[in-house]
Amino acid sequence: MRRVSNCIFCAIVRGDAAAARVYEDDDLLAFLDIRPVTRGHTLVIAKPHAERLDDLAADVGSRMFALGHRIALALGRSDLAADGSNLVLNDGPAAFQTVPHIHLHVIPRHHGDRLRFVKGLLLRRGGETDTTAALIRDGLTRMEQP
Ligand code: AMP
Ligand code: ZN
Repeated sequence: MRRVSNCIFCAIVRGDAAAARVYEDDDLLAFLDIRPVTRGHTLVIAKPHAERLDDLAADVGSRMFALGHRIALALGRSDLAADGSNLVLNDGPAAFQTVPHIHLHVIPRHHGDRLRFVKGLLLRRGGETDTTAALIRDGLTRMEQP
Protein backbone atom coordinates (compact mmCIF):
# COMPACT_ATOMS: atom_id res chain seq x y z
CA MET A 1 0.00 0.00 0.00
CA ARG A 2 1.37 3.41 -0.97
CA ARG A 3 2.00 5.62 2.07
CA VAL A 4 3.81 8.94 2.22
CA SER A 5 6.02 9.70 5.21
CA ASN A 6 5.16 13.40 5.58
CA CYS A 7 1.40 13.01 5.05
CA ILE A 8 -0.67 13.52 8.22
CA PHE A 9 -3.48 11.25 6.98
CA CYS A 10 -0.99 8.48 6.13
CA ALA A 11 0.36 8.93 9.69
CA ILE A 12 -3.21 8.43 10.99
CA VAL A 13 -3.58 5.29 8.85
CA ARG A 14 -0.30 3.93 10.29
CA GLY A 15 -1.42 4.80 13.83
CA ASP A 16 1.46 7.28 14.24
CA ALA A 17 -0.94 10.23 14.65
CA ALA A 18 -4.05 10.25 16.81
CA ALA A 19 -7.56 10.38 15.38
CA ALA A 20 -11.06 9.66 16.63
CA ARG A 21 -11.89 6.72 14.38
CA VAL A 22 -15.45 6.21 13.27
CA TYR A 23 -15.01 3.33 10.81
CA GLU A 24 -12.14 1.28 9.47
CA ASP A 25 -11.66 -1.65 7.11
CA ASP A 26 -8.73 -2.88 5.04
CA ASP A 27 -9.07 -0.12 2.44
CA LEU A 28 -10.94 2.80 4.01
CA LEU A 29 -10.81 4.89 7.16
CA ALA A 30 -13.22 7.48 8.56
CA PHE A 31 -12.30 9.75 11.45
CA LEU A 32 -13.45 13.03 12.97
CA ASP A 33 -12.14 16.26 11.51
CA ILE A 34 -9.87 17.90 14.08
CA ARG A 35 -11.46 21.30 13.32
CA PRO A 36 -15.12 20.42 12.80
CA VAL A 37 -17.55 22.79 11.12
CA THR A 38 -20.38 21.03 12.97
CA ARG A 39 -20.36 18.32 15.62
CA GLY A 40 -19.73 14.97 13.94
CA HIS A 41 -17.85 16.40 10.93
CA THR A 42 -16.16 13.27 9.56
CA LEU A 43 -13.48 12.68 6.95
CA VAL A 44 -13.45 9.59 4.74
CA ILE A 45 -10.19 8.50 3.16
CA ALA A 46 -8.86 5.58 1.21
CA LYS A 47 -5.82 4.22 3.03
CA PRO A 48 -3.35 4.19 0.13
CA HIS A 49 -2.00 7.68 -0.47
CA ALA A 50 -3.60 9.48 -3.41
CA GLU A 51 -3.22 13.24 -3.49
CA ARG A 52 -5.99 14.33 -5.82
CA LEU A 53 -8.87 12.99 -7.92
CA ASP A 54 -6.38 12.61 -10.75
CA ASP A 55 -4.46 10.07 -8.64
CA LEU A 56 -7.52 8.19 -7.38
CA ALA A 57 -8.80 5.06 -9.10
CA ALA A 58 -12.51 5.47 -9.94
CA ASP A 59 -13.52 2.33 -8.04
CA VAL A 60 -11.72 3.57 -4.91
CA GLY A 61 -13.51 6.91 -5.22
CA SER A 62 -16.81 5.03 -5.50
CA ARG A 63 -16.05 3.12 -2.31
CA MET A 64 -15.14 6.35 -0.51
CA PHE A 65 -18.47 7.85 -1.56
CA ALA A 66 -20.36 4.72 -0.53
CA LEU A 67 -18.84 4.99 2.95
CA GLY A 68 -19.58 8.74 3.09
CA HIS A 69 -23.17 7.94 2.11
CA ARG A 70 -23.38 5.35 4.88
CA ILE A 71 -21.91 7.71 7.47
CA ALA A 72 -24.34 10.46 6.42
CA LEU A 73 -27.24 8.05 7.04
CA ALA A 74 -25.69 6.90 10.32
CA LEU A 75 -25.48 10.54 11.49
CA GLY A 76 -29.24 10.74 11.06
CA ARG A 77 -29.85 7.51 12.93
CA SER A 78 -27.39 8.34 15.72
CA ASP A 79 -28.18 10.41 18.79
CA LEU A 80 -26.59 13.34 16.94
CA ALA A 81 -29.87 13.18 15.01
CA ALA A 82 -28.68 15.01 11.89
CA ASP A 83 -31.47 16.19 9.57
CA GLY A 84 -29.13 16.23 6.58
CA SER A 85 -25.48 16.56 5.65
CA ASN A 86 -23.06 18.19 3.28
CA LEU A 87 -20.73 15.80 1.45
CA VAL A 88 -17.83 17.78 0.06
CA LEU A 89 -14.59 16.89 -1.66
CA ASN A 90 -12.06 19.66 -2.30
CA ASP A 91 -9.87 18.62 -5.25
CA GLY A 92 -6.67 20.66 -5.32
CA PRO A 93 -5.50 23.91 -3.77
CA ALA A 94 -7.69 25.91 -6.17
CA ALA A 95 -10.67 24.23 -4.51
CA PHE A 96 -9.26 24.81 -0.97
CA GLN A 97 -7.75 21.35 -0.53
CA THR A 98 -5.24 21.79 2.30
CA VAL A 99 -4.32 18.18 3.14
CA PRO A 100 -2.84 16.51 0.05
CA HIS A 101 -4.41 13.09 0.70
CA ILE A 102 -7.80 13.12 -0.98
CA HIS A 103 -10.71 13.00 1.46
CA LEU A 104 -14.46 13.33 1.55
CA HIS A 105 -16.01 15.61 4.18
CA VAL A 106 -19.31 14.50 5.72
CA ILE A 107 -20.74 17.45 7.64
CA PRO A 108 -23.94 16.87 9.61
CA ARG A 109 -26.63 19.54 9.41
CA HIS A 110 -29.77 20.35 11.34
CA HIS A 111 -32.86 22.29 10.39
CA GLY A 112 -32.34 25.95 11.22
CA ASP A 113 -28.59 25.59 11.88
CA ARG A 114 -27.54 28.25 9.36
CA LEU A 115 -26.07 30.65 11.93
CA ARG A 116 -24.42 27.84 13.89
CA PHE A 117 -22.98 26.52 10.61
CA VAL A 118 -21.47 29.90 9.68
CA LYS A 119 -20.07 30.24 13.21
CA GLY A 120 -18.63 26.70 12.90
CA LEU A 121 -17.01 27.63 9.58
CA LEU A 122 -15.32 30.60 11.24
CA LEU A 123 -14.33 29.02 14.56
CA ARG A 124 -13.76 25.36 13.56
CA ARG A 125 -13.73 24.34 17.23
CA GLY A 126 -13.79 20.70 18.38
CA GLY A 127 -14.68 19.02 21.65
CA GLU A 128 -16.31 15.89 23.07
CA THR A 129 -14.38 13.99 20.44
CA ASP A 130 -14.51 10.51 21.97
CA THR A 131 -18.22 10.79 22.75
CA THR A 132 -19.01 12.10 19.27
CA ALA A 133 -17.08 9.30 17.55
CA ALA A 134 -18.88 6.73 19.76
CA LEU A 135 -22.27 8.19 18.82
CA ILE A 136 -21.50 7.87 15.12
CA ARG A 137 -20.26 4.29 15.56
CA ASP A 138 -23.58 3.59 17.35
CA GLY A 139 -25.41 5.10 14.38
CA LEU A 140 -23.53 2.75 12.03
CA THR A 141 -24.45 -0.21 14.24
CA ARG A 142 -28.11 0.85 14.25
CA MET A 143 -28.04 0.76 10.45
CA GLU A 144 -27.10 -2.90 10.55
CA GLN A 145 -30.13 -3.71 12.71
CA PRO A 146 -33.46 -4.50 11.03
P1 AMP B 1 -9.39 20.23 3.01
O1 AMP B 1 -9.30 21.71 3.16
O2 AMP B 1 -10.55 19.76 2.19
O3 AMP B 1 -8.05 19.66 2.53
O4 AMP B 1 -9.65 19.64 4.45
C1 AMP B 1 -8.65 19.18 5.29
C2 AMP B 1 -9.31 18.89 6.59
O5 AMP B 1 -8.46 18.07 7.37
C3 AMP B 1 -9.59 20.16 7.43
O6 AMP B 1 -10.99 20.23 7.66
C4 AMP B 1 -8.78 19.94 8.69
O7 AMP B 1 -9.42 20.43 9.85
C5 AMP B 1 -8.62 18.44 8.71
N1 AMP B 1 -7.42 17.96 9.41
C6 AMP B 1 -6.15 18.40 9.29
N2 AMP B 1 -5.34 17.68 10.08
C7 AMP B 1 -6.11 16.77 10.72
C8 AMP B 1 -5.85 15.75 11.67
N3 AMP B 1 -4.62 15.52 12.16
N4 AMP B 1 -6.88 15.00 12.12
C9 AMP B 1 -8.14 15.22 11.65
N5 AMP B 1 -8.44 16.18 10.75
C10 AMP B 1 -7.44 16.94 10.29
ZN1 ZN C 1 -1.29 10.26 2.65
